[in-house]
Amino acid sequence: MNTMKPSLMDYTQKELMEMIKPSFRVKQIFNWMYHHYAENFDEMKNIPKSMKEELSEKFVVNPLSIVNKEESSDGTIKYLLAMQDGKTMEAVWLKMKDAEIDCEGETVHEARYTICVSTQVGCKVGCSFCLTAKGGFTRDLTAGEIVAQVVTLKRDNEHKRNRKINIVYMGMGEPLDNLNNVAQAIKIFKEDEGLCIGGKRQTVSTSGLSTKIDKLGEMDLGVHIAISLHAVDDELRTELIPMNKAHNINSIIEAVKRFPIDTRKRVMFEYLVIKDKNDDLGSAKKLVKLLHGIKAKVNLIFFNPYEGTEYKRPTRADMVAFQEYLINHGLLCTIRDSKGIDISAACGQLKEKVEGEI
Ligand code: SF4
Repeated sequence: MNTMKPSLMDYTQKELMEMIKPSFRVKQIFNWMYHHYAENFDEMKNIPKSMKEELSEKFVVNPLSIVNKEESSDGTIKYLLAMQDGKTMEAVWLKMKDAEIDCEGETVHEARYTICVSTQVGCKVGCSFCLTAKGGFTRDLTAGEIVAQVVTLKRDNEHKRNRKINIVYMGMGEPLDNLNNVAQAIKIFKEDEGLCIGGKRQTVSTSGLSTKIDKLGEMDLGVHIAISLHAVDDELRTELIPMNKAHNINSIIEAVKRFPIDTRKRVMFEYLVIKDKNDDLGSAKKLVKLLHGIKAKVNLIFFNPYEGTEYKRPTRADMVAFQEYLINHGLLCTIRDSKGIDISAACGQLKEKVEGEI
């Protein structure tokens, strides 16, 4: 039987200092975990053997291991990660911008990356377009399992601690349905002596649990939010996201208006465009009206079909017409090219594929 020990990555430095003495050892351990990405106690060279033995009875360092990874031609790498209890989930390494090299071969800026993390094994929300939803809900991830996704991917890609990285809570699961552990992970990521990833580099993406949007706002963690809106009327949205019955479009928009947003930031609205469902200009018009008064950015996402789905990918022409309508009516709008289109890019696809083969 698998036993789950707590991970040192479940805790802030201050919390660890309350449990482990002397404090300077905690600073060294933090350095091993977040500067050198140590996976176990053996790698922590300057920690006394007796202390490592004692700690390893109670804790693990990194609670994850890589089961599989798929790399796309655009630089996206999708990881299937196993936890101590053998359950698996996914994290994705996304290349957002290529490195820029000047004519003398000097690096003007390095390539920029974003890591997409999971927050649950499975999901309760049940979106009709989502493979994760089809497997039902298994359990919440611990804060350490969320933090370890970033550490594991940075280590695997030899991405130094001081290189900037963005985090999006957009993998498997609904982050706000696991709010306490997500909030703890946000704090651990922000630690100055840890990974030092500020709130403005972290985006919590939600399917719209409006009451939890308020709770996250009250925590004042300085993070961005992204809303998976996907539809402009409640009927279609409930078809796509059944939870919309309890948290309808109006309640989400009102919660967003209450969320503490840095005046320099915009709220991201994700709009998954599905052919003949929500790709018409009538929907674009309603969207403009709905977002009136919010400093918003709309991200149009091509629906990425997978085997067995009835939904279809929209045409690029329809996407562009939709985008132009929004821009002409004062909204910021981008079309997100599906990263990793040649691999299993929608959430839950790699897990399904690998475990289907086992
Ligand atoms: S799309 Fe996200 S919120 Fe919806 S079921 Fe899938 S994992 Fe859950």
